[in-house]
Amino acid sequence: MKQLFCDVCKKEVIDPIPGRTFFYFREYDLCEPCKDDLEASVKAAVLTKKPFDFAWFDKMRSEIVLNGVKNSKIAGSKRSR
Ligand SMILES: [Zn+2]
Repeated sequence: MKQLFCDVCKKEVIDPIPGRTFFYFREYDLCEPCKDDLEASVKAAVLTKKPFDFAWFDKMRSEIVLNGVKNSKIAGSKRSR
C-alpha cells in the first residue's frame, strides 16, 4: 500500500481515505488536523475582509496552504504538537 504524507505537517496519514482522513487541495495532500486548521484560518481571515468575493477567497486560501507547506504548519494553528 502506498504511503501518504501530509504536505503541511509532513506526518504520515495512517489509513488514508480521501475526504475522510486526508483531503486534496490542488496538488497537495492535507491530513485531517491540517485541513481543520486551514478552515479555521480561512474563517478567521474571511471575518476581516468584506464584502465577500470568491476571487480573493480562493487566492487567500491558496496562500494559506502554500505558506503551510513552507512552514510545516498552517498559520494561526493553535494545535500543539
Ligand atoms: Zn498535516
